[in-house]
Amino acid sequence: MRARKRLFIGLLALGVGLLSVLVIFAVYLAINWEQPLNRILLMILAFLIVIVLGIVSFGIAGIVLTIWSARTIPSMQHLIRVTLNVLFPICLMLGRALGFSQEQVRSSFIEVNNQLVRALVRARRNNVSKEKLLLLAPHCLQNAECPHKITLYPDNCQRCGDCQVADLLSLRDKYGIKLAFATGGTLARRFVQIYRPRAIVAIACERDLASGIQDANPLPVLGILNQRPSGPCFNTCVDLKEVEEAILYFLRNLGINETLRGLAAPAEKYKEKRKWKGKMDKSIPG
Ligand code: SF4
Repeated sequence: MRARKRLFIGLLALGVGLLSVLVIFAVYLAINWEQPLNRILLMILAFLIVIVLGIVSFGIAGIVLTIWSARTIPSMQHLIRVTLNVLFPICLMLGRALGFSQEQVRSSFIEVNNQLVRALVRARRNNVSKEKLLLLAPHCLQNAECPHKITLYPDNCQRCGDCQVADLLSLRDKYGIKLAFATGGTLARRFVQIYRPRAIVAIACERDLASGIQDANPLPVLGILNQRPSGPCFNTCVDLKEVEEAILYFLRNLGINETLRGLAAPAEKYKEKRKWKGKMDKSIPG
């Protein structure tokens, strides 16, 4: 289930509150400490935290304004990115302390990121060409029993229709974009180096998407969560309509008047197959 954006924004605000408490505590100690050297060190620490606090407060204001107005604020883009990167680990810790799972926090972060990217893309028109759009998918979308290796050569797929690799290839051919299947973060980064995209549509689980979005910074990444009817990293699926909408979101800036033409098959038919396979797999020892 998707977490709402307000979870991550709430945790960001809580992170700022926590930093403020730290400043007050450091100043209190500095005033009451007898040794002058310790006093000076505490005041320096408090000063540094105040600087970070100022930066992330502006960043959070930028995030909230962008989401609220659905418009990007170009001058705040850098601050927003710094804020997300600085406070993300703190949000994960706070979320865990408050009883939220890491998946919920990461999913909320992805929602916030997608909203910010959409606003950015709307503002910067005509800056993404078809060839510079990379669709990055996890190799676990492939049917685990398929003998054709697709990670380095996606066209090895015989398009038998037994998994969504064939559908993603159709999307690639339909829009003339780049497509890559990665086995993990290292290979994903390698593909980004090879293709040098200007924008990425990425499919992955919460953990890989959240870290991938941060790694790709400042490239705009629209993240789409995969579905895992058989558990993690095995015969996963994705909502192809969501993938196509994300591709179109970037391409629309080129004035390409493409519409959803029913190419995007729902994930349900694959989910059914995967559920069945999942039951079979449980009987396999080890
Ligand atoms: S569509 Fe068929 S050939 Fe292509 S990867 Fe999936 S199972 Fe293999």
